[in-house]
This record gives sequence, structure tokens and C-alpha cells, in this order.
Amino acid sequence: KLSDRLQQLLEQIPQGSRLADIGSDHALLPVAAVESGKAVFAIAGEVNPGPFDAACKGVAEAGLGKVISVRRGDGLEVLEPGEVNCITIAGMGGALIAAILDRGQSQGKLKEVTTLLLQPNVGEDILRRWLLNNKWVLVAERILEEDGKLYEVLTAVPENTEAGITNESVYRELTLGDSAKVLGQEALLQMGPWLLQAPNNVFFAKWQGEIQKLEGILTSLSRSELESAENKRKQIQGQIREITEVLQCLP
Ligand code: SAM
Repeated sequence: KLSDRLQQLLEQIPQGSRLADIGSDHALLPVAAVESGKAVFAIAGEVNPGPFDAACKGVAEAGLGKVISVRRGDGLEVLEPGEVNCITIAGMGGALIAAILDRGQSQGKLKEVTTLLLQPNVGEDILRRWLLNNKWVLVAERILEEDGKLYEVLTAVPENTEAGITNESVYRELTLGDSAKVLGQEALLQMGPWLLQAPNNVFFAKWQGEIQKLEGILTSLSRSELESAENKRKQIQGQIREITEVLQCLP
């Protein structure tokens, strides 16, 4: 059985995709995608030898060697341009996922890709910023908890002005509920434009956790009398105030 986290990714894969799962480890996601009919063909990419062997084993055990190609290599270098139309990258930091996409995009590997499904463990804001700067439009965001950890799943598609799929519409100023609180692009990049519009308990738990972390930093800074510590304290107090205000104004 797939974890809830991978299940969320699976559900977002368009039916009949040609899929590449980069950093596939045991190839659980491509195997489930092919078995469920979500993917008609899949590539499992892995850079490290141990997980690469695990992926080969997972695919062989599922008897799917003919429809899932396991390839060893860094990021999107395992793909030929045009080979897949959906890419999943899960379980890495947002900065690493962004770097993989960036290199792949400049090598033309994203040309026929119509869906990116990304699950950063940290650094979600870095990834949102990369998508925004590279004409990928965030069309859905999910947040879930599993085994005490919080995960976000981001879905992005290429910008399509004619179809009205634009970053302008995703990142326009957001007024929270019927309050006077208006969020600009920076706050939306940090917290997630879709998550902010439909916040669930996990979202509140994430940001309450962030406030606690920041309060912990404040406590340790309060022991220092340096001027730089004073500036840092002010900055963190500002961040705590901002997050608290946002949470109070959400429905
Ligand atoms: N995607 C699976 C999941 O979400 O359950 C496995 C996640 S595992 C924590 C991260 C995997 O990414 C590791 O197996 C690692 O070897 C692989 N990885 C890290 N950097 C990579 C890169 N540049 N290209 C391909 N795979 C990479």
C-alpha cells in the first residue's frame, strides 16, 4: 500500500500519462501509476547506486520491466526531450528540486511536459519562486500529515495565456476573508496561494509550528547583547506578528 503522501501524488497524475519519477528510490510511485492505469509508460530515474538497485528490484518484482524503464543518472538527464508529459519529483528539498528542473529546462527536457508534481520536504517557497520565474503556473497545492511530518504537494502546468492559465491570476493580491489583511506576492510564495485560500488543520499546524520555531530563536537571541542580535530579534518579531495576523484572518 502506498503512503498517503505518495497516494496524493498518484491521484494528481493525469490518466494515461507518460511519466518520469525522478529520485524514485524503490520505484513505488511509477509502479503504482502503471498498475492503476494513470501511466501507460514510466521512467524511474535515480542518481545513487543503492536506490537505483532498489528501483530495479521494485520494477522486476512487479513484473513491469517492459513498461517501466529504470535509468541511472542525475535529475532529468535520464530523459530524452519529448519522452514524457508528466514528471514527479518527491521527497527532496525544494532547492534541489528547483535545481533539477532548472538544469533540465535549459537542456530542453521540459518541452512536452504538461504536468509537474512536486513534493518538497522543505523550501517550498524556493520551488514556488522557481516555477513563477520560469512560466510554470501552480494550479493546485495540498498539505498533509503523515507520521508526524508535514508534506506539501505542488501541481504546476505551463503558462497558457490564451487559456487564462497565468501566474498573474495566481499571485494577485489576496484579501483574507472579510478582513483588511491583504497579502502580496512574497507572502503567497511563502505560504502558498492555494493553501491560503482553503486552509486545513495541517496548514494551521505547520504555521503554528513555524511560530514556535521562531520563538525558540528569539529566546536564544535574548541571551545576546550584540547589536546584530537586536536587529535579528526585531526581524523575527516582525515575522511572528505577520504569521499570527495571517492565521487570525483566515476562515
Ligand atoms: N521519491 C521517493 C519518495 O518520495 O518516496 C524517494 C525519496 S528519497 C528521500 C530521495 C531520492 O532522490 C533518493 O533515492 C536519492 O538517491 C534521489 N536523488 C537525490 N538527488 C537526485 C538527483 N539529482 N537525481 C536523481 N535522483 C536523486
